[in-house]
Amino acid sequence: MEIGKFIRENIRNLQPYSCARDEYQGAEAIFLDANENPFDNGCNRYPDPRQQRLKKRLAQLKGVGEENLLIGNGSDEIIDLLIRCTCRPGKDNILVFVPGYSMYEVSAAVNEVEVRRIGLLPDFMPDLREAERQRDSRTRLLFLCSPNNPTGHTLPLSLIGEICSAGEYLVVVDEAYIDFAETPSAATLLSQYTNLVVLQTLSKAWGMAGLRLGIGIADRALTAILHNMKPPYNVSGIAQEKALQLLEREEEFRQQVALLKKERERLFRAFSASPVFRKVYPSEANFLLVTTEHCRELYAFLTERGVVTRLRDIPPLIGGGIRITVGTEAENNRLLWLLEEWEVEEKGSNREPVNS
Ligand SMILES: *Cc1c(COP(=O)(O)O)cnc(C)c1O
Repeated sequence: MEIGKFIRENIRNLQPYSCARDEYQGAEAIFLDANENPFDNGCNRYPDPRQQRLKKRLAQLKGVGEENLLIGNGSDEIIDLLIRCTCRPGKDNILVFVPGYSMYEVSAAVNEVEVRRIGLLPDFMPDLREAERQRDSRTRLLFLCSPNNPTGHTLPLSLIGEICSAGEYLVVVDEAYIDFAETPSAATLLSQYTNLVVLQTLSKAWGMAGLRLGIGIADRALTAILHNMKPPYNVSGIAQEKALQLLEREEEFRQQVALLKKERERLFRAFSASPVFRKVYPSEANFLLVTTEHCRELYAFLTERGVVTRLRDIPPLIGGGIRITVGTEAENNRLLWLLEEWEVEEKGSNREPVNS
């Protein structure tokens, strides 16, 4: 499939900014080309705009080619690049599923791109018939999120393949939480579908949210286009260095992920047994979605006691929703203790359900 048809003409014809050091490959030289301060303080030079060392490591880790990778200042930057390379402001549109990650819509709004929102089905699967109804000749992009934020459910690869093979638009699968999932990554489908983009991040399981490092995995023709569009020095040298260091700690990463998954299952069982919640959804991410009639009061109760959760009260599908991140064992114990406290107070005060 020719991906050119999804890309805006001005982007296809873009003459990219040529970086100061693009033409020079040697290691030692006197650099008088970029107006830097020559006195070494660890960050006086511009960083590698291609992030070659980091890409090499990530390619090894993800089992893809370096030419299939794009590194962004967080996945949020890549989401923005994808919208801008496909959609003409005021003309083209994107499809998103709700409830889902709200950044797709914010980024589209900033770019004056119409968003067509499609409700997930009661089992949280995307309503593909509705997507087909809402699509038109100006639909350029469809966002999927698996495991989905805030529901925590994953999509089968067969379904993703089916959506890609229709070939009507670029399909983005946001896998920010894939390291916590049993379901395999959609990156395994890349050799079959050139209109597929997989987004991952170092912000969640890898523990580098503060560095801002998002990963796009796609056909090399597309990563080349995105590379030409991006601000040349979008990832700081400090972030590249620090990430390379932290990516060495693979064993620690695996242990932490295993522990968080164990804690997730412990919380799932405790929440399920608690009368506080109406429903607890199974999750393949590092958070659990629960619903309760008293979501706002419970949320406030926890916040006042220093435990911050995320209100995700999104009717009709997840009315009364709260998204709770899996913390350390001690943090989770504190949460469970507070829930018992709440239960006692709730029963004692005979509080009326609000907002039901
Ligand atoms: C947290 C999250 C991200 C990560 O964004 P970064 O900019 O890489 O930190 C991406 N997508 C979803 C659905 C998320 O929940």
